[in-house]
Amino acid sequence: MANSANTPLNNPDPNWVWATPAIGVPWCTCGVDPLTKQPPHQVTRPLVTKYVTETLGSLPERMTNREIALVVQSLWRFPDITPPIAESLMRSVKAVNAQMAEDYPLATAMAAVKHFSNTWAGDDRP
Ligand SMILES: [Zn+2]
Repeated sequence: MANSANTPLNNPDPNWVWATPAIGVPWCTCGVDPLTKQPPHQVTRPLVTKYVTETLGSLPERMTNREIALVVQSLWRFPDITPPIAESLMRSVKAVNAQMAEDYPLATAMAAVKHFSNTWAGDDRP
């Protein structure tokens, strides 16, 4: 069979997520980059790396569900992880890892943060 596998379920490599369309974080007030026409504070690998480092104190080899939630909370400036946020996070973890686990390799955890950021619809905002 030919390569059938850019879908997350068939492909344990989470890096596909970084190629999905970028959405700016909600706290960014920079507007749109005049050159790229994209929001300047897209959720990129460097931005997620910065937030993982700031939130956890260093870049770990593996991250738990709670640590992923903490990074998302800090990146998105959520006051709390509400049930809709938690549910959406679970969907993102399953999208990049196929199933929930105790913890995940850093690349998978960071991809889950990115996936959440691309797909969170903001349904707990007023
Ligand atoms: Zn900005």
